[in-house]
Amino acid sequence: MAREVDRTGASVHPGSMESKPSADAVTKPSEAEAARGFTRPLRDAVVHVVAGKRCPVTILPADVADLFARQPTVLDRVRCSACRQDFPASAFTWHGSDDRVGS
Ligand SMILES: [Zn+2]
Repeated sequence: MAREVDRTGASVHPGSMESKPSADAVTKPSEAEAARGFTRPLRDAVVHVVAGKRCPVTILPADVADLFARQPTVLDRVRCSACRQDFPASAFTWHGSDDRVGS
């Protein structure tokens, strides 16, 4: 039996730096995050996409970011700090990836 080095758990700091889009359709939480009940990595930076253009990054309040990590579909409206209006969560992507918010 060969020993394999698992590099898929490389350290990532969700929400703080741009991370490379993952090959998977949905980004997985780290083990520590999963242990806290998260089904997605904790991320707090979202980008509103309107008519193919990206608004400046919006930083979500901590409680909202926490909620999205636990229950990605629980909120259906997100406020864009650039537009100063609420929009459907599906109009946003997580900063640094192509993952749609709320999926
Ligand atoms: Zn916007």
